[in-house]
Amino acid sequence: MARIADLLHAGRTFSFEFFPPKTDAATVVLEQTIAELAPLAPSFVSITYGAGGTTRSLTHDLVARIRKESAITPMAHLTCVGHRRNEIDEILDQYEGVGVENILALGGDQPADPMDHKPSDYRHAIELVEQIAERGSFSIGVAAHPECHPKSESRVNDRHHLAAKLSKADFAITQFFFEAHHYFTMVDELKALGVDKPIVPGIMPVTNNAQVKRMAELSGAVFPKWLEEKLAAADGDEVQRIGVAAATELCAELLAGGAPGLHFYTMNRSTATREVYANLGLPLS
Ligand code: FAD
Repeated sequence: MARIADLLHAGRTFSFEFFPPKTDAATVVLEQTIAELAPLAPSFVSITYGAGGTTRSLTHDLVARIRKESAITPMAHLTCVGHRRNEIDEILDQYEGVGVENILALGGDQPADPMDHKPSDYRHAIELVEQIAERGSFSIGVAAHPECHPKSESRVNDRHHLAAKLSKADFAITQFFFEAHHYFTMVDELKALGVDKPIVPGIMPVTNNAQVKRMAELSGAVFPKWLEEKLAAADGDEVQRIGVAAATELCAELLAGGAPGLHFYTMNRSTATREVYANLGLPLS
């Protein structure tokens, strides 16, 4: 197994993100997806965490299983808002116990209704980064938002907060975006603040028009007009064909511009990621 900081130091990483399935049928789909993506020899895979702990054991069990039963390096996502510090310590103890070495330290979001908010010892992800870093046992990643987090006070402040997280963490993975200039501008803005840690772009090939638009709205990513127009008259396989072509162009531009890797939001499906890989001519194992 490996620390992601070391993998990034050694060269480009290509990684896949999954969410923990909640039903037997969804588990079968994910197992098939992982089997289909294995020949792409991912540098690591990451498993999402339901904000406030809604997938606490599902995330842990899947990460621990990948760690134990496969040769793939796993990274556990962990969100802090809506958690107590002792709960986070318990989770970190468990990961240390099963040899998991990589954590993506995130803020997460309280539910929209204040009545559903859980008591929290945290306001921002940096507090979680500091708590994890004290242990010295994990390679730590953080989230970056090329088009700025939707709740940011300002672009300048958002970049300063990200630079502060990256002064303690090893690398960042970005929210998805559709045009490479968003990524390169953010990297330049961070460089100006003295940040030299790797920032891996997150890629979401469009496979379902409505779903991606909704997710883009929530995350603050602009869904570009040219892509919207191309997709307007498309349906079924045509949507995926256009989405894969757009993602291929984006990835090629990012790699040509020096991105330290690519992180694919797979939505627990393999086809789009495999097609982008093939189009880019990336090596299979
Ligand atoms: P933060 O770093 O806390 O930032 C959130 C906002 O607070 C930003 O506007 C920032 O500018 C501001 N801020 C930060 N520090 C300060 C400060 N000291 N003072 C004032 N303002 C500050 N969510 C999940 O629930 N589960 C997941 O598994 C998950 N995985 C993700 C993976 C990636 C790669 C990404 C990019 C996001 C993921 N998210 C996930 C979403 C994430 O939890 C949300 O975007 C959340 O709203 C912010 O998380 P953050 O880590 O960026 O938080």
